Amino acid sequence: MRRAISKLAVALVSLFVFTGIAFGQERKGLRVFISADMEGVAGAVDAEQLLPTGMDYPLFRKLLTAEVNAAIEGALAEGADKITVADSHGEELSILPDELNPKARLVRSGPRPLGMMEGIDQGFDAAILIGFHASINTPQAVRAHTLSSARYFDVRLNGKHASEAMLCAAIAGQFGVPVVLVSGDDKAIEEVHQTIDPGIEGVVVKRALGYESAESVSPQVAQSMIRDGTEKALARVGTFHPYVVSKPTTIEVTFKSMINAEILAFLPYVTREDGATIRFTGKDILEVERFMQVVGSYDSNK
Ligand SMILES: [Zn+2]
Repeated sequence: MRRAISKLAVALVSLFVFTGIAFGQERKGLRVFISADMEGVAGAVDAEQLLPTGMDYPLFRKLLTAEVNAAIEGALAEGADKITVADSHGEELSILPDELNPKARLVRSGPRPLGMMEGIDQGFDAAILIGFHASINTPQAVRAHTLSSARYFDVRLNGKHASEAMLCAAIAGQFGVPVVLVSGDDKAIEEVHQTIDPGIEGVVVKRALGYESAESVSPQVAQSMIRDGTEKALARVGTFHPYVVSKPTTIEVTFKSMINAEILAFLPYVTREDGATIRFTGKDILEVERFMQVVGSYDSNK
């Protein structure tokens, strides 16, 4: 009898140890999705850094890539074994592929159905937003806009002023994936905390002084803050909640030029709310994002 009990005990202990190892391996194999914009990179403040025609653009492509690599290093240190990066700035061709950590895969160019979050699906445990900026509704924030500073005056998701971070978090949320870290200027992080989740790890790489001005830490300091922040966030990955928006999902866009609203409202499923504003309702955020890809690709040039 005693022998039987001890055999049983050994079997149970082995089972726990084995299961523990199995769980340990599973936890180590984190799957991390990274979307990277450029306005929130340390030192970036105006078109000279952000547009391909700008004198600093080649340098800031390197600095953007280095900030993304810092997040990748943090993720690898926490045991990530699958990392996908979406290049999400401008033409979505800013990250230098040959300088990106080879452990990550890179999503480039567009239009693409999921926009800044293309590449994400249920197969990820966490999403990270690098180099992000505030929406147009946040005063005194570096390059504050949503999707297009040239074309949109305002974008609202289910009636709420939407930042790009909010749209990205909603897409991730549709797949059950939480945003765990956002880097950018102080105003961008403040907006993320107020509108999405105060628990998201925020990495403030610069203090906004205005639309085209900031007091920034050095690129090296920003990179080490992002690396440390990523490790910290992923170490508590189980404490985050996906940002889920209600369905059906409505997007309203107020254009800077009225002609865009006028023409898009020719479509039978688009409602014109006022001279410059249109509204579209999709069954979920993924349909809304696809609609926004069409709106973003269309340009009346007026
Ligand atoms: Zn952006």
